[in-house]
Amino acid sequence: MSDDNYRPLSDDEMADFFSGFIELIDIPEALYSAETEEPFRNCIKCKCDLFDDVEYSISKHFEEGVDGKAQIFLEYALCKKCHEGLGIKTSEESLKNIEALYDEVLGKELHNSTFSIFPEEEDLPEYLDHCYITCQKIDKTKAYSVIGQFKGDKLMMPSVMSFSVEARMKIAEVLSQETKEEMDKMYDIIDLPPSVGKAINVSDLLGIV
Ligand SMILES: [Zn+2]
Repeated sequence: MSDDNYRPLSDDEMADFFSGFIELIDIPEALYSAETEEPFRNCIKCKCDLFDDVEYSISKHFEEGVDGKAQIFLEYALCKKCHEGLGIKTSEESLKNIEALYDEVLGKELHNSTFSIFPEEEDLPEYLDHCYITCQKIDKTKAYSVIGQFKGDKLMMPSVMSFSVEARMKIAEVLSQETKEEMDKMYDIIDLPPSVGKAINVSDLLGIV
């Protein structure tokens, strides 16, 4: 094949390629809604029924608690259509910085020994308990975040990732101001609980939406 025939894969082709590695597993309780103690059922924006074979993401953010256990302070499910509809643009600078941040850790020995490359259901605890950036066990008395991608009533492995408070700050640090403002669109659609303003700098969560 000559170089003339080479072209990068389109987003759809990439999605097809990666779908070959995706395993759909039951949603673990750690990713249930803390409010209902059941799986999330509706998109926070359009309220569609997520179990209707809808693709969506869940974000759960915890803050340091008072009784030795971190407390949920923000959680939501957002369908793919609504996420795309937000039209969040990431600046080139931010993309480069995020790539560099991941290059520092992904594929490295520590990361490979912490997370399976082709994870299955039994590997889920590693993804829920270890920070995807630092690879350290997450101290669940402190702030941390968990995100994942879902389809209907199933979690798509290996999309679930957890981030320690250190990782959250690192990601927020490398995003450009422009990108942060774009990502703020995400929080425009959510009624942030009144305590959030005081408890946390929301910009520390940007990039983990
Ligand atoms: Zn929606």
